[in-house]
Amino acid sequence: MLNLNISAIHFNDSEVEIDYHISPQLKEIDSGAPIKLNYAFLVKKDYTWASMVALGSFLPYLVSRDSKIKVTLPIAATEWLKEYWQQYLTAMFESSFSIEWVFTAQYSTEEKEDSLFSSNASNRIGLFYGGGVESTFALSTFYHKNPILISINGKNWMNADKDKSPIKYNLISELTQKYGLSLEEVSMNVRNLIKDTDAIFNRFVTGNLFYFLAAPIADKFGIGTLYLSTELEYALEVGEHDQSIHPRFVNNVFVKKPSWPLFMSIYMGFPKVSMFAKLAKTDFIKYIYSCFNNSQKRWCGACSKCFRISEFCDRIHLDRQIIGMQEGITGRREHSPVTRYSWQYMDKIYGRKYMREFVLLAKHAIKKFKKKFLKINS
Ligand SMILES: [Zn+2]
Repeated sequence: MLNLNISAIHFNDSEVEIDYHISPQLKEIDSGAPIKLNYAFLVKKDYTWASMVALGSFLPYLVSRDSKIKVTLPIAATEWLKEYWQQYLTAMFESSFSIEWVFTAQYSTEEKEDSLFSSNASNRIGLFYGGGVESTFALSTFYHKNPILISINGKNWMNADKDKSPIKYNLISELTQKYGLSLEEVSMNVRNLIKDTDAIFNRFVTGNLFYFLAAPIADKFGIGTLYLSTELEYALEVGEHDQSIHPRFVNNVFVKKPSWPLFMSIYMGFPKVSMFAKLAKTDFIKYIYSCFNNSQKRWCGACSKCFRISEFCDRIHLDRQIIGMQEGITGRREHSPVTRYSWQYMDKIYGRKYMREFVLLAKHAIKKFKKKFLKINS
């Protein structure tokens, strides 16, 4: 049995700190640092919400490791919370599990004036925004409805680590200023607390973080629906990949109480190259940021995203300068069960050019050879 004990929750204006202990200690989970969240405004002291953030961060991951979990929370017994996790985990795991709940009532949950969603929900839209093709495409289709953009960043999280490079955030800030849009940022350290692969993190944690970290923003700005438009090729191709953000699963993530926001996956049937082609007909194309590496360059030129976006430019005859891409990045045909999809789709729409592919292949081979050769000589 694994024990998850949420021992204390501290609200310090715009910062929230959640202390936890997991025993026996798992090597993949940091045992020292608390969960830390930072908002741009004073956060309401809703201890039940903070408990949901902590549970969303750890509970599904722990159930994947052990079928018996004892959870200790510092709030008063909360039936809906237990029901929520029972349903969520049942939807996520085929095998049986059991959760033993202990509520220490260290914090009163009766202080209604401090809880989220105590007033009426509203109908504004929230959009998770990271500057990539999917979220920018979604924005281009309903920016006139004045959505609130929600950007989650954190150490080692996707390509949203501000400390590594500010390029992405400079582009987002330019875009929001130009269109008069509100941007709400949340910083968190959860990716850094679970030292497991991105695949595992996206399978068990990411969707929960999107939803629960957005909750104070939804409450403050009257957001009734949170839209998620994200890359889903992996999720749709490989069984449990990205399960926590899978369109079939986000329905299990949101809290089914009237005042909590809906959480919806949108545009999942749209091939990325089609989104890109549509974006290229708008001003939004200028703000695309899609590189994996958060390097000092907007396009590192060495990751699969850079290769693919470069190929998109060729196929739709878009000048790379418009997206700030330097010359010399060339597409490379991909063959894995997941990534070949992009290429097959491009072939369907734009036709396959064997001669050009051969030249690109040769270019990549020469690059690889030079790299190897230089390395040997260095
Ligand atoms: Zn790159």
